Amino acid sequence: MNPLYDQMPTSVFERMSGLATKHGAINLGQGFPDFGWPQEILDAAARAVVEGSNQYAPSRGLPALRDAIARHYRRHYGLELVAEHVCVTSGATEALGAAILATIEPGDEVILLTPAYDSYAPMVRRAGGIVRKVALQPPQWRIDEKALAAAVGPRTRAILFNNPHNPTGRLFDEAELGIVAAIACKHDLVVIADEVWEHVVLDGRTFVPLCAVPGMAERSIKIGSAGKIFSLTGWKVGWMVAAPALAGPLARAHQFLTFSTAPNLQSAVAFGLDEGDSWIAPMRRRFGDARDRMAEGLRDAGFAVLDSAATYFLCVDLKASGIALEDKAFADAAVERAGVAVVPLSAFAERDPPRHLVRLCFGKKDQTIVSGIAAMAQARELLSLG
Ligand code: PMP
Ligand code: GLN
Repeated sequence: MNPLYDQMPTSVFERMSGLATKHGAINLGQGFPDFGWPQEILDAAARAVVEGSNQYAPSRGLPALRDAIARHYRRHYGLELVAEHVCVTSGATEALGAAILATIEPGDEVILLTPAYDSYAPMVRRAGGIVRKVALQPPQWRIDEKALAAAVGPRTRAILFNNPHNPTGRLFDEAELGIVAAIACKHDLVVIADEVWEHVVLDGRTFVPLCAVPGMAERSIKIGSAGKIFSLTGWKVGWMVAAPALAGPLARAHQFLTFSTAPNLQSAVAFGLDEGDSWIAPMRRRFGDARDRMAEGLRDAGFAVLDSAATYFLCVDLKASGIALEDKAFADAAVERAGVAVVPLSAFAERDPPRHLVRLCFGKKDQTIVSGIAAMAQARELLSLG
């Protein structure tokens, strides 16, 4: 078998969810909410299953959804988009795969900012690319212009840029977007902009898509996911948005990955994007409240909690919380002995990762958060130095 897959471990999300089930633990590991999806969109999906088509959708997506995505981004960010810019995919994971396959040739280099979402590096390598990592440093996780510029070489083809950022919960600011854009323009790079968390920004902050920065519309592949916008992670409806010169090759890469995506879920997502703008602000408030509750509870239990401005993740500093175990050892012990699953951050960076941080998902009901904090407190008691 291909050695890349032969030697690859199972994804940390699958592993931690499996352990959570095995040990009957509270699952704060894999990122999925346990509340908050709009009933209207479920009804729209149910109607579409019974009354709509259940046969292959057009490969680039239902026209109604491609139009709805273009309209959504015109309304929210003033982007000048039409359906021709859009290709619907089976989740952002497929979009990332298609974008990587369509962009790079063997030997091309791709820059990742680590910690980075776990599918990026393996997909780049399987496409024949070479991964160049630029490490963001906790607790600020800021993009350093010099470090990013130093990673660019003659074979660099693309930057894979995730904003808002999983697992840190950072929303990169205007200056940082400017750094990425300036380097991409100077070296004629494509930027694959994984912006699946664009609507899960907290405390009234504003998200700016990278393609809205001057010079970036022609070289950005913007990736989105209905799973995050509507708290329906299992639906796996995503998309790529790019200028026409990029959109054609992207659609051709997509056509031989999955070809097309469930038509009924696509119609429900089209409905949600057209009708659901008013769902976004309450969602942000609920996730903001949930973050506050989890952060406060963990701090009261003696944990050092890092700031989180977006996504439904926050990170805990084990070392500063009096826990000497490395992240993976803590995660394994916590799920087995204290009944709570978390994600070690070292899973997001293969070489020289920070090993003292774990990620917790706060997109949960009060009751789950309360039980999760109690289990974390127990883990701290069992596993701390003192
Ligand atoms: N990119 C990032 C940064 C993510 O956090 C996720 C899922 N949490 C994905 C991609 C995958 O999205 P999807 O479930 O739509 O495939
Ligand atoms: N993206 C989700 C997370 O960060 C998990 C996705 C998956 O399980 N592949 O937790």
